[in-house]
Amino acid sequence: MASFRETGVLSEEDLAGRVPPLERLRRGPCAVIECVERIPCNPCADACPFGAITIEGPMVTPPQLDPERCTGCGTCLGVCPGLAIFLLDLSMGEGKAHVTVPYELLPVPEEGEGVQVISRAGEALGEGRVVRVRRVGTTWLVTVEVPEEWVFSARAVKVVCDG
Ligand code: SF4
Ligand code: SF4
Repeated sequence: MASFRETGVLSEEDLAGRVPPLERLRRGPCAVIECVERIPCNPCADACPFGAITIEGPMVTPPQLDPERCTGCGTCLGVCPGLAIFLLDLSMGEGKAHVTVPYELLPVPEEGEGVQVISRAGEALGEGRVVRVRRVGTTWLVTVEVPEEWVFSARAVKVVCDG
């Protein structure tokens, strides 16, 4: 599978070892940090109130998440300038997943609204239903309910405007 250096899109290979196990996601929301570039950045690690994010060595080292320490609070999503952190939750069962994405566009989706769900590669996956909207700092966090099979691919939402 091609690397993001060739395609511009993170592949499963790029994210190997960075995705929380399914068993953890079935217990409740947990962050996934899709940040693999060596860049001088660390607000996610500083912001986590539970010490779940660490950056070993120099600041350019990509952050690591301890899924067992993560409570799914969402604080890190609100401070990441790269919009590279998401919350995944499979605890509702019934073949459904909740994916929380950082959102900095207008209009902001409303709870209960149907939105287009977009993959990491920018492709439309289908429709999802917004189940929660909240603000962390200057960033909106939008939680959308989608089929479980989209949990590792749904990474953005798009409001469908009439007319
Ligand atoms: S979601 Fe909350 S607990 Fe989990 S890594 Fe982010 S800030 Fe820490
Ligand atoms: S704040 Fe975002 S971009 Fe910066 S190191 Fe953390 S995950 Fe990467």
